[in-house]
Amino acid sequence: KHWRQPEVKRTKTVCTYCGVGCSFEMWTRDRQILKVQPVEHAPANGISTCIKGKFAWDFVNDPKRLTTPLIRENGQFREASWDEALDLVARRFMQIRDTEGPEKIGFIGSSKASNEEAYLTQKIARLIIGTNSVDNSSRYCQNPATKGLFRTVGYGGDAGTIEDMEKAELIVIVGSNLSENHPVIASKLKAARKLRGQKLIVADVRGHEMAERADIFLRPNASTDMIWASAMARYILDNDLADTEFLETKVNQVEEFRESLAPFTMEFAEQKTGIPKQQLIDAAEMIARADSVCLLWAMGITQHSHGADISTSLSNLLLVTGNYGKPGTGGYPMRGHNNVQGASDFGCLKNMYPGYEKVSNDEVRAKWAKAWGVPPEKLSGEVGSDNFLMVQDAGTEKLQAMYIIGEETAFSDANANSVHDSFSNLEFMVVQDIFLSRTAQFADVVLPACPSVEKEGTFTNTERRIQRFYQVMPPLGNSRPDWEILTDLAKRMGHDWGYTHPSEIMAECAGISEMFKGVSYERLEGWKSQCWPVREDGTDTPLLYTDGFHTDDGKAVLFPLEWKEPAEGPDAEYDLMLDNGRMLEHFQGLNQTGRGERLMSRSPNWFVEVSPELAKEKNIEDGTWVKVTSRRGSVEVQALVTERVRGKTLFMPIHQGKPGLNLLTGEHHDPDVNTPAYKETAVKLEVLPRE
Ligand code: SF4
Repeated sequence: KHWRQPEVKRTKTVCTYCGVGCSFEMWTRDRQILKVQPVEHAPANGISTCIKGKFAWDFVNDPKRLTTPLIRENGQFREASWDEALDLVARRFMQIRDTEGPEKIGFIGSSKASNEEAYLTQKIARLIIGTNSVDNSSRYCQNPATKGLFRTVGYGGDAGTIEDMEKAELIVIVGSNLSENHPVIASKLKAARKLRGQKLIVADVRGHEMAERADIFLRPNASTDMIWASAMARYILDNDLADTEFLETKVNQVEEFRESLAPFTMEFAEQKTGIPKQQLIDAAEMIARADSVCLLWAMGITQHSHGADISTSLSNLLLVTGNYGKPGTGGYPMRGHNNVQGASDFGCLKNMYPGYEKVSNDEVRAKWAKAWGVPPEKLSGEVGSDNFLMVQDAGTEKLQAMYIIGEETAFSDANANSVHDSFSNLEFMVVQDIFLSRTAQFADVVLPACPSVEKEGTFTNTERRIQRFYQVMPPLGNSRPDWEILTDLAKRMGHDWGYTHPSEIMAECAGISEMFKGVSYERLEGWKSQCWPVREDGTDTPLLYTDGFHTDDGKAVLFPLEWKEPAEGPDAEYDLMLDNGRMLEHFQGLNQTGRGERLMSRSPNWFVEVSPELAKEKNIEDGTWVKVTSRRGSVEVQALVTERVRGKTLFMPIHQGKPGLNLLTGEHHDPDVNTPAYKETAVKLEVLPRE
């Protein structure tokens, strides 16, 4: 049959591969995905998508999809009914809660599931179990950026929209391989550069595509970005290039901040970062003289032992130059997973209810308790445990049970061997996922969930834009949408919430949380969207801070910082630094993108990038097998010689079929946010004998 015949169904959906939040029509016949069709009126992407949005859907019908619950018995999984599996989960969680205490149970919500599912995850944790130990994978990526924004401007989200990025006179991209990680935004900026002459500064240890296109490419030594950002702020203030009116009227702590910059001379910056002083001055002047600057950053900044400080220093630089609250300005942490923004917004955080309302605030707690129909003392005011601590404590007397939804924690956490030991020692572990992931293999009960195309809900992209996605096809086998599983589980634990559709969950949250007051499924119908905060009348906020900052007095804060050395650097034995990141064709541990030839054939092998200098020294060619060893472990991998990396820096993609990169990374982390310092991994490299 020709696929233009009327039985072809077209359904609006939202991509689940990155925080750009591309929406498009999916054309299907029964379960067959015929094509992805972009549309002009898609708010984030228009007619653009990348290779993943277009082609990475083979996993939906993969024969290895989980279609029935599994229970571990005598070390083996056996199939079970939903009644048996959910009864077991409910019984064991209530038993551990009642005998050991609620703090012995932890939840990791999914940054790929919907906002409504994030809301239910934290509701079960807080209301039924009585713990605030609920988190999501933002702990491993942009939590330090959020901290930097909380410290300086107040909201934990991008200051504006993709349209603002396109409007900016100058774009600064720091620690972000934008064209592979947020390809559609990169395309839009390439167009802005070509059509409008938008200027571009890139700062990165790796010479990726956007770096090649930049007017100025700053290549700092690993982990030193806070120094150049602070030195530029000092240079701008010292040379009367700051936006003084903005500072006088809209910013607090200007003098304290100025004093804190004393050590950050251009000479110090040149010495520590390795960037020539004149290049730093040129970049500082370009930033100061531009009418509008958007600064984008990602995990090259956040995954350090002081990622929150580095993020703060970038926001400080924007404040000094008056780059908040106007079109085409602001700080933009590029959110990685499709709903990592929403998972945090809707309360999968150890210290916040949905809408970033603090659990430690008595009034806030009383409000949520009233809405949920319980006395305030039923809700804990203690800040809970986060991903990092939960995984460290798992299997000890501090944490005995975990519920992990759609996260590949056994693969993506730093120091994988230690994570596997922790999971093996847990008394009870539940994993809810679409595949028997590496994490699920440690579980006692595995609950088969549905991918986005088999359910309805909303996602929030990097612009804080909430968008609806619609059911394209029915659930496969006995798999169920996460929101249905969580609702059913809650009922078995004595809380019959009676949700029949995710719109009812959103309506409940909007009725309680200030930030989402005017959010509703009606207002999000079809291709409509809303950027939070949303007022009761439905007015949303694409550009933040036009009427002041989200602080007590409406003024921003210049946050003084001190330079702190990274937790791990090179030494005589481990003399190389290992950078790591994503690739255009793949997503995380290949659970989804690894199940189709169209993507796998483009990038089938794991590799380590080696600089031409190092390759010459060690006699390495493309394809040479090498052993990369850190203080934690080692991996064998093939080399790719490229000028994208320089000198003694290596780069490895995070995607591989078996635990690899995280056998090398360590548990050192940013103490402000408990984000592992993935980018601070010192290694050595040996060439393996040729066969
Ligand atoms: Fe999906 Fe991101 Fe690609 Fe858009 S840019 S299609 S959201 S992976």
